[in-house]
Amino acid sequence: MDDIRLLIDLFKGKLRQGPGGEAETVMAVELAGIDRGVPLAIADIGCGTGASTLALASLLNAHITAVDFLQDFLDVLESRAQSVGVADRIDTLCASMEDLPFVAEAFDVIWSEGAIYNMGFQKGVADWRNYLKPGGLLVVSELTWLTGTRPAEIQRYWDSIYPEIDLASAKIRMLEQSGYAPLGYFALPEQCWRENYYHPLQTGFGDFLERNGSSGGALAVVEEQQREIALYERYKSYYGYGVYIARRVG
Ligand code: SAM
Repeated sequence: MDDIRLLIDLFKGKLRQGPGGEAETVMAVELAGIDRGVPLAIADIGCGTGASTLALASLLNAHITAVDFLQDFLDVLESRAQSVGVADRIDTLCASMEDLPFVAEAFDVIWSEGAIYNMGFQKGVADWRNYLKPGGLLVVSELTWLTGTRPAEIQRYWDSIYPEIDLASAKIRMLEQSGYAPLGYFALPEQCWRENYYHPLQTGFGDFLERNGSSGGALAVVEEQQREIALYERYKSYYGYGVYIARRVG
């Protein structure tokens, strides 16, 4: 099995594919000042199996276009939406976040949790701005240094995986320079990484290896995840996910 099939197999049974939490999605809705009664068009980009999509569909009077480039994740999202009774408020779209088929100014809100790194924060916020109505809201979570300096081991690790990792102040400046007015920022609490993301992932490693005959590829996937988790446990005071909320200006 190639790497992408292995990653789909590891992640598709999980409620989320990255750090986050329902309470934190609610907090971002509140910080953004979104009126729960007003009808909204929302795009949730890099939605995975739909943790944030389903929370937004339940909370808001919204129609949500849930975008991911993996149909397997969208299939899970659709069946979860059916089972919680919000399927009529969600359309799924299998597309690349770098080549979205939207018309300009299509959405009131663009939401993206733990996904913009796939195209890079700077390019993502600039490109996606075109799909927001003037005055529309961007809510995006992004890997972020929490302190001005940090140990060399963790600096090297994230520089090699995601060189765009930076301080919140730098991300906020980027938003300001890309035609947004920042409205808020908070760092996801540890439980969004540990209880909500890493623990469910770890409990699935055994079954994942069994399903995949403990192949070299499957073992490598688990080792890589375990390395990331061990580094998080060691260095979690230095980095996290920042949630950025901004309004399109102009
Ligand atoms: N938002 C979900 C969550 O928080 O649980 C998923 C986060 S997961 C870390 C990143 C998601 O982005 C995955 O579902 C992945 O399939 C999707 N993705 C990665 N590259 C993409 C691309 N170029 N276009 C669209 N989706 C992409």
